[in-house]
Amino acid sequence: MNYQQTLNEINTGLDCAKFGGKVANYIPELANIDPNKFGIHLCCIQKGNYSIGDNEEKFSIQSISKVFALAMAYPMLGEKLWKRVGVEPSGNPFNSLVQLEYESGIPRNPLINAGALVICDILISKLKSPKEDFLNYVRGLAGNEDIYFNEKVAESEKNSGYRNVALANLMKSFGNIENLVEDVVDFYFYMCSIEMSCKELAQTFLVFANHGAHFVTGEKILSESQSKRLSAIMLTCGFYDQAGEFTFKVGLPGKSGVGGGIAAIFPEHYSVAIWSPKLNKAGNSVLGMEVLERLTTETKLSIF
Ligand code: GLU
Repeated sequence: MNYQQTLNEINTGLDCAKFGGKVANYIPELANIDPNKFGIHLCCIQKGNYSIGDNEEKFSIQSISKVFALAMAYPMLGEKLWKRVGVEPSGNPFNSLVQLEYESGIPRNPLINAGALVICDILISKLKSPKEDFLNYVRGLAGNEDIYFNEKVAESEKNSGYRNVALANLMKSFGNIENLVEDVVDFYFYMCSIEMSCKELAQTFLVFANHGAHFVTGEKILSESQSKRLSAIMLTCGFYDQAGEFTFKVGLPGKSGVGGGIAAIFPEHYSVAIWSPKLNKAGNSVLGMEVLERLTTETKLSIF
């Protein structure tokens, strides 16, 4: 498969001006991003890196970090994890409070904000230096030390993250948060502020395309079963309230973030990351979805 040629053809045929969307501005610091940034990076398990545009420029990965947090917490708690968070799509916006009240503080899945806050709570309970240990975990997955939090973004979200504080408080009232709410949301805001490029994200996601085995060291980060489950959660819950449409159009498990990034995997073949900051109403990158749909359509390769 000549992925570079396919990416070039997709890129040439893309009339970017035709696509709408808006940069996220509810976290003020994210509103400063150039809306026309555009990068793609695809990494094959059998070696081979293919890219377009701003693929080496770092951006705010936001909710894509929820996948890393889940990957870190899952082996620590094993199946007990699912007592505290479910595995069903929410059918609600990512920061919704409504369902939590009805469902006694157990979030629908680990990739919506409430579920990720529970995962953050677990990591805080388990780790000695949560922020540092988490960052080192991501660096280890990426095989790259040059990955950092963006303090400005974390601060900006801390100053505007009322809904996340409300979610954590509501879950605390149901006994599903062990630590102080302020510590949980602080960790969460830092986690979301991690910056990575498409190249770094694609390389990091290779572990999920590779049944949980690290792409360089071969170390098993997740068991086969854990890797299957994590991918299943990405497929069913990774794209806000648009996971059905994403799967319908693209057919790959993945996760998006409000920074405009999307990372996806074609198990046993490749991982791919795209960055284009203009989002649709659901919070997914408009061009990111379009490019991935064209990629799986042109290559005739998806999980289905
Ligand atoms: N930090 C963002 C928030 O909690 C993450 C949102 C996202 O990327 O889905 O609102």
